[in-house]
Formats: sequence, structure tokens, C-alpha cells
Amino acid sequence: MPKVLKCDPTSISFDNDGRPRITSQYTRAALRLASRRLHDLQPVAFPTETVYGLAAIALNPEAASRIFSTKGRPADNPLIVHVSSQSMLHSLLPPHFTIPPSYQTLIDAFWPGPLTLLFPTDISKIPSIITASHSTVAVRMPSHPVARALIAVSNAPLAAPSANSSGKPSPTRAEHVFRDLNGKVGLILDGGPCDIGLESTVLDGLHHDGNIRILRPGGITVEQIEEALRLAHSGHSIPRVLVHRRDFVDDAIEQAPTTPGMKYRHYSPAIPVTLLRATSHPPAGANSISPSTLLASLKSSTVANPPPKVGLLAPSESALAKKLLQDPVIQWHRYTLGSLSEMSIIAQRLFDGLLSLEQEGVDLILIEEVPEENEGLAIMNRVKKAASETCWIVPNSL
Ligand code: AMP
Ligand code: MG
Repeated sequence: MPKVLKCDPTSISFDNDGRPRITSQYTRAALRLASRRLHDLQPVAFPTETVYGLAAIALNPEAASRIFSTKGRPADNPLIVHVSSQSMLHSLLPPHFTIPPSYQTLIDAFWPGPLTLLFPTDISKIPSIITASHSTVAVRMPSHPVARALIAVSNAPLAAPSANSSGKPSPTRAEHVFRDLNGKVGLILDGGPCDIGLESTVLDGLHHDGNIRILRPGGITVEQIEEALRLAHSGHSIPRVLVHRRDFVDDAIEQAPTTPGMKYRHYSPAIPVTLLRATSHPPAGANSISPSTLLASLKSSTVANPPPKVGLLAPSESALAKKLLQDPVIQWHRYTLGSLSEMSIIAQRLFDGLLSLEQEGVDLILIEEVPEENEGLAIMNRVKKAASETCWIVPNSL
């Protein structure tokens, strides 16, 4: 069984150079133990502001390889390197690389925080297992005090994907890690629930056209990035922010997908997940069904023994949820995501909702769409990858 050690994030502060001051004795002891394990090449699970991560010393290929074996992660899915200070970032970069002005703007605006930037990799420093042999390395500076302190106390950049078996929803609480990786990880630092609840935004600003390409939407929204660039570049040409698959396609990415879920199913619980689209327009040729047809099909479904136990993840004001929940035969397990007026709460609760409903033993999870703007873009990116099926609901039937 893994050792679970509580850490108090409020007991940690940082000076301007990213050096931590830790006032709680037990938090300091937990971080020291975690750091010793990391230097012994053992992976350690720890809280970040996005999701719980599985950390290993990034510059040690053997340590990094244990992340892949613990998670069952495909070797062609590169890892993000986490730093605790800008000087640690500089120590990783090729000697003649100058940080582009747009990157400096974004670092100033969003670091520490859930924004990952691609940099050219220096193969004399970064093991190829980290980058999956790509010419770039992804780096971010987490804002969770426990995460940043663990990097600083270990005095080493840490590779850290989400602390879950590959393909499963990401853990946003220490209990989620415990349930998923019990027997596979020796130490979990428990810093409470994650604030953001979705992974970082992964961004590539290395192209000659100066544009910013969002490879994975995440904790920092496209709108926030556009606003930061607009403020800093006023009067000059403002880089455009392009979202993968919405605003651009890239044959190289499609051929050798580096962004999670492009190639592999992702974020999926062990039970089927159906995405319900009740507000957006169905694509040509797609059939819409009424809520009563959906209910009838749930009840006749052969996977579910009567009465079917159905998990429902929907915003609190959902008219569709209200209608479905009136069905007296289905055993409903409702998990309220929060209000559409507070999308950051919906983001924070999404993975917890999927994992909680799975834990409650439902036969199937229905999840309702949210608008794809602000945090909604990252939420829907994860939801679409978690869902094995999409069901369009006739809008005027609500
Ligand atoms: P995670 O599994 O949440 O830690 O996220 C890691 C993800 O970051 C990968 O699946 C990629 O999408 C992205 N990433 C990491 N390194 C690179 C890279 N060198 N080029 C492009 N994307 C990267
Ligand atoms: Mg992950």
C-alpha cells in the first residue's frame, strides 16, 4: 500500500528566485522524503494545481522510464518537464536559444500556472525518453506550492504526467491516485483537491510565422492568452492564437500525434460514457433523438440490468437533466457539475464526477455538453475523448 503523507500548501511560500520557505514541520518532512525517493529513482505522486502528477527526475532516463511502466503509458507520448524557477528553465534550454517575446509575455502572465510551452530540445541535456525523440521539449512551472516546493527541494526538474493508469480520467484528489495506482506507487503526497482540475494548456509558439498554436486546450484559456498578448503587443503585430483542429490542422501532428487523445482513447472510466448534445447543431446526416427515445433506449439496453443505474453529469441549470431525472424507472446517480455561469467549477469537478460515478458502480454515464468557449473548450476536449458515443437531442423537445 502506498504511504500517503499530508502536506499543507498554505505553509509554503517562495522568494523571488523560487526558493521555498516551509513553516510546517510535517510538510517539510514529507517533501524531504519525497525528494529522497525521487533521487532513488522511485516515482512519487504529488498534487499540482491542474491534476495529481506522477513525478520522476526528468534528466534521468531510468527514473523517467518508471513513469511509463507505472502508468502503462505508450512510449511515443512525451512528458512535460516541470521547473520551479525561470533559472531552472534556462538551465534546460540550448545555449544559443533566446526566449521569443511572445513566450516572455506568456511566462510573465501565467507562470507559475497551468501553461506548458514547447522549447527546442538540447539532446545533450534532455533524455529522448522525455521528448519521445521530438525536436522540442514541453516545460511548465506549476503554481501548486507542494509541486513547486518538491521540484525546488529536489533541486531537479521533474517529469510529471497525470498520476493515473494511461487512458483513465486524471486524478484530482489523493484518493483517486490511491485507488488507481495502489500497489504501483510507493508514496502519495496529499495536498487536497486540485483547483483547476484539468491538465495544462500546451502551446507551441516556435513557428516562423510568429503565431501561437494551442496543441491542447487546458487550464489557461485561449481568451486569456489572447488578452495577455494583446496587452503586451499593443501597437505591434499581435500573434494569432490558433487552436489545433479548430483553426489549423497539421499533417505532422496527425501522422505522429503528440497531443494526448489524438491517437489513444483518453480520460475514460471503465464504463461507457455517452455525450449528450442538446444545444449545438448536429452535423449533416446525424440523427437527433428526443429525451423520451433516449430514456427508452437506456431502459432496453442489454448492458444494464433492470433497473439501469445511470450516472448523469450535467450543469445545475440543465433542462435536459431535469427532464431525464423525471423518469422513475431508471436509478439515477446525479453528479452536479456546477453552474454554466461558473465554468471553472465545472472544469474542476469534471474528472471527479467521472471517477465518483464509476466508483458508485453505475452502468453508464451520460454527460451533457457545455459551450466551447473559455474553460468550455478544454472541458469539451476532455469530454469528447472520454465519450465512446455522441447522442444529439432534439432541441425543441426540452
Ligand atoms: P500529460 O500527459 O498531461 O502530462 O501531458 C503530456 C502532453 O504534453 C503530451 O501528451 C503532449 O500532448 C504534450 N507534449 C509533451 N511534450 C511535447 C512535445 N515535445 N511536443 C508536443 N507536445 C508535447
Ligand atoms: Mg494524463
